[in-house]
Amino acid sequence: MLPFDFEYYRPQSLQEAVDLFQSLQRQGKQSMIFSGGTELLTLGRIDLAFTEAVIDIKDIPECNSLQVNEQRLLLGSALSLTKIEEANVFPLLTKISSGIADHTAREKITLGGNICARIFYREIVLPFLLADSQVLLSGPLGERIVSIHDVFQEELRVEPGEMLIQLAMESKYIRAPFYAFKRRQQWETGYPLITIAALKIDQRIRIAISGLCPFPFRSQEIEASINHKGRTIEARIDGALAVLPQPILADVEGSAEYRLFVLHNLLFDVLAALDQVQG
Ligand SMILES: Cc1cc2nc3c(=O)[nH]c(=O)nc-3n(C[C@H](O)[C@H](O)[C@H](O)COP(=O)(O)OP(=O)(O)OC[C@H]3O[C@@H](n4cnc5c(N)ncnc54)[C@H](O)[C@@H]3O)c2cc1C
Repeated sequence: MLPFDFEYYRPQSLQEAVDLFQSLQRQGKQSMIFSGGTELLTLGRIDLAFTEAVIDIKDIPECNSLQVNEQRLLLGSALSLTKIEEANVFPLLTKISSGIADHTAREKITLGGNICARIFYREIVLPFLLADSQVLLSGPLGERIVSIHDVFQEELRVEPGEMLIQLAMESKYIRAPFYAFKRRQQWETGYPLITIAALKIDQRIRIAISGLCPFPFRSQEIEASINHKGRTIEARIDGALAVLPQPILADVEGSAEYRLFVLHNLLFDVLAALDQVQG
């Protein structure tokens, strides 16, 4: 149970959702997009989230798209993680998705909700960062399609009232060799100590990480060191560890030193899995 009441709206189209947001804004009501709704339930119960109205986007057709063809993969933001796993169109995405929470929670948690979540792990974004995805956003100022790298820096940075509608990528990425591993400190379904995702494309390894810093990221500096073929594997990994973003998390899950130790080993695993394969 949440300790406050809120108005619930379930628009049937994008335009209706945008109109609703603007109408609530004119009335001076605080509103939020609601997709799986797990964050409002989790944080609202402990007084860390509050809203006067929610706009549930689950019935908007564009948010439920799932299309794959020779050219591209397109996914709607309201698809649940279990739907994404069942479709299994992008094996790296399936692997990352199936490591998040438990099956029951994944039936609720959505692609867009995880990317836009306040709880900072946002693991599902990792494959989209690796695949240089395109993002469709819609809001009071209209629609726009942008590179994920332009709007996702640590978190999704969008205009007020703007919604994440779809993500798309070229289909070459869904067939590329990959490696992914989620290292947890506690339980089998907890948040990650570190989750690493790697993809080999055009003979280069790409790496994205969640759980190391208080945001998920992909770093060109890390990739430059990891792909520096003239050096020993140890030197490539040491070089990557020297250019990590800051701060490194230190919390009940593990100290910063322990996380760096785990990352060091995971980078070895990435290179063992992908260095010699064609991709
Ligand atoms: C038991 C449990 C374990 C979990 N473990 C993990 C884990 O290990 N790793 C991990 O990454 N996550 C984990 N999560 C999920 C995470 O903490 C969030 O609860 C979840 O990602 C939110 O997704 P949702 O679809 O429910 O989004 P919602 O709760 O509906 O929304 C989350 C936020 O995003 C905004 N939003 C939602 N959709 C859109 C959109 N389309 N456009 C713009 N803004 C939008 C909302 O306004 C809200 O602020 C776990 C959750 C639970 C309940």
